[in-house]
Amino acid sequence: MEKFSQKTVLILAGLMFLVTQSFGLPVKVNENENEELTIDEVLRRANENSDPKIASESIEPEVYLTEYDIALTKEQYEALHNTDPQKRTVGLRSESSRWTDKTVKYKLDPNFDADALKKIANAMAEISHFSCIKFRQYVESDTFRINILNSTGCWSYVGQVLSSQDLSLGKGCIYHGIIVHELLHALGLNHEQTHPDRDNYVTINFENIKPGKDVNFEMQSTTKVNTFGLPYDYRSVMHYGKTAFSSNGKNTITTKDSAYQDVIGNRKGMSFLDVRTLNAMYKCTTHCTKTDADCPNGFLGPDCRCWCSLPTDDYPIEYCSADDKTKYGSLKFVPS
Ligand SMILES: [Zn+2]
Repeated sequence: MEKFSQKTVLILAGLMFLVTQSFGLPVKVNENENEELTIDEVLRRANENSDPKIASESIEPEVYLTEYDIALTKEQYEALHNTDPQKRTVGLRSESSRWTDKTVKYKLDPNFDADALKKIANAMAEISHFSCIKFRQYVESDTFRINILNSTGCWSYVGQVLSSQDLSLGKGCIYHGIIVHELLHALGLNHEQTHPDRDNYVTINFENIKPGKDVNFEMQSTTKVNTFGLPYDYRSVMHYGKTAFSSNGKNTITTKDSAYQDVIGNRKGMSFLDVRTLNAMYKCTTHCTKTDADCPNGFLGPDCRCWCSLPTDDYPIEYCSADDKTKYGSLKFVPS
């Protein structure tokens, strides 16, 4: 009986495949079906073979993508391909590439549907919930903005680098983790696996990387990227999964601690250390009388209370003190 049903399933699956192939029907993809995909797998699917289109008012005439989803200015692109390794970096230690007033001004493509708009609003709300970063719609008097486009592929510049810069959330990109990931790029975060300390935590298996794709694992230099003294983060939403840019299906990224091999590639949302990095990068606690030193088990949150890490991915942060929890409730982010 069991054999029979397995066979039936196989035949049905085969028929479905033939039907969708012969009639070119789109295979329906929804978020739940793809829950096991890592962040880079979603980005690859959305970005590979796509020709990124830019907004009509864009300053840069062309988008150069690296690491699947990082947009580079022409100058950055040329620097990355420079034969002098000292000049070959796109990282952003410079504070001039941070958003002034800790506020991201954005202009939304009118072509997003209601579901996409809701997901974009929730991703922004999550970032604001866990930091001092605010998002608001662009007005004419603003000097800087991002144009959030329903273009092709998912990509963003790293940091605030142009007065009018694009961020694309095209087909295949409307997932919470992907939107958070692209917004964090726009705020200045790089991919975790290119951090200057990565060789202590992961091994990059260059023999398994597609020919010509080594550049995607170019390590950021410490003079250009500031990790704020924080530890390497396997759980980061900015960390690619184990087979990113693989030529043969074998691992391109092997974690030195094998317990994290299938943890990397998170696309659920911000990790504890993503939150901490963003708060450090934007100096979110300068108005507080306390400092991080007052929170020995965690760090000082933008509400001037101590925030601690929880050992769960989907709910990574909680107040360190039971008193704060009683008084101020949970730090959990609840999407609308
Ligand atoms: Zn990225």
